[in-house]
Amino acid sequence: MIPYGKQEINQQDIDAVIDVLKSDFLTQGPKLPAFERALSDYTGAQYAVAVNSATSALHIACLALGLGEGDWLWTSPITFVASANCGLYCRAKVDFVDIDPKTYNLCPVKLEQKLIEAKATGRLPKVVVPVHLCGQPCDMQAIHALAQAYGFKVIEDASHAIGGRYQDKPVGCCEYSDITVFSFHPVKIVTTAEGGAAMTNDAELAQKMALFRSHGVTRDASLMTKEPHGPWYYQQVELGFNYRMTELQAALGISQMGRLDEFTVARHKLAVRYNQELAGLPLVTPYQLDGTYSGLHLYVIRLEEDVIKGSHKAVFEMLRARGIGVNLHYIPVHTQPYYQQMGFDWGDFPEAESYYRQAISLPMFHAMTQVQQDEVIQVLTDILQGEL
Ligand SMILES: *Cc1c(COP(=O)(O)O)cnc(C)c1O
Repeated sequence: MIPYGKQEINQQDIDAVIDVLKSDFLTQGPKLPAFERALSDYTGAQYAVAVNSATSALHIACLALGLGEGDWLWTSPITFVASANCGLYCRAKVDFVDIDPKTYNLCPVKLEQKLIEAKATGRLPKVVVPVHLCGQPCDMQAIHALAQAYGFKVIEDASHAIGGRYQDKPVGCCEYSDITVFSFHPVKIVTTAEGGAAMTNDAELAQKMALFRSHGVTRDASLMTKEPHGPWYYQQVELGFNYRMTELQAALGISQMGRLDEFTVARHKLAVRYNQELAGLPLVTPYQLDGTYSGLHLYVIRLEEDVIKGSHKAVFEMLRARGIGVNLHYIPVHTQPYYQQMGFDWGDFPEAESYYRQAISLPMFHAMTQVQQDEVIQVLTDILQGEL
């Protein structure tokens, strides 16, 4: 099976991890701040808080922004469930804004319409989480303007987008957001096995997120509310968690960050070739918003179902049966049983549901060979031209 995604680990990555195993610190040592510096240097954001997953990063980002009971968090229905669940962790309520039919990202026009309605009913969101689906940056300038007008905070879920650019600045610089979150899960662009990070330019948010990462406990006397008892003293000032990233993970991350641009270029080469070779088929290849450079975590096609002979499901099953490890990103979050219990249902976000009926993620990863890509193209062509 040709997988849809796969990590790229070289000898330098392996050596970096082994060095940590032989060192004094397996956790809470010098690699974590060095990894955070690498993330700051790459993106231009002043602060990075690296944690054990993007899910944790989303959670501490929401907490640092003060999201809580009675508040609303809005996100896109086409995302991994974590982009919405982070609101529920904080006991906030979650709602969705339907996607743009071309970019598949949260639509700023629909966002504005929904904000106008929410203002009238006193249900404005405290936090909006735009997701850079497949690595394509959202229209952040438009979202930022709405944040200013309606007073909400913005967390970019850039789990797919490290290495991408918006208006020629790196995704993660937080020019148009309060916080940007990355994922380093193995299937993403750079990996730390499990891992994530929250980027920000706000010193106070960075400090709060660092506290929430580690039990809400501090050894910094300036953060304490009571006098320290002595040099052994630590103080709990918040209810935090253990969301720490290990030194092994941070060392792997540092090593991987050195090859990020190489990874992104390789993905773009594969995408260009897919775009060319699939052009004549009854499907839609990815659209690129002006002024953006995608991180290209995923290459998603949409089938023109009224043209093809089989159904979306049949095409998907045939691809898998012929060894092409396709996938589907994502099942609209509002249709998940857990969210349906809250009152959401099919029909709530029609563009998201239409996307779901047509989308297929094709294999794309750094080490993918031309032979493997030819195989994907050939099998897909055979299936769509009804020659099977
Ligand atoms: C992968 C992913 C997450 C969660 O990342 P983890 O590091 O696995 O917690 C969140 N949001 C999106 C859009 C993702 O793709």
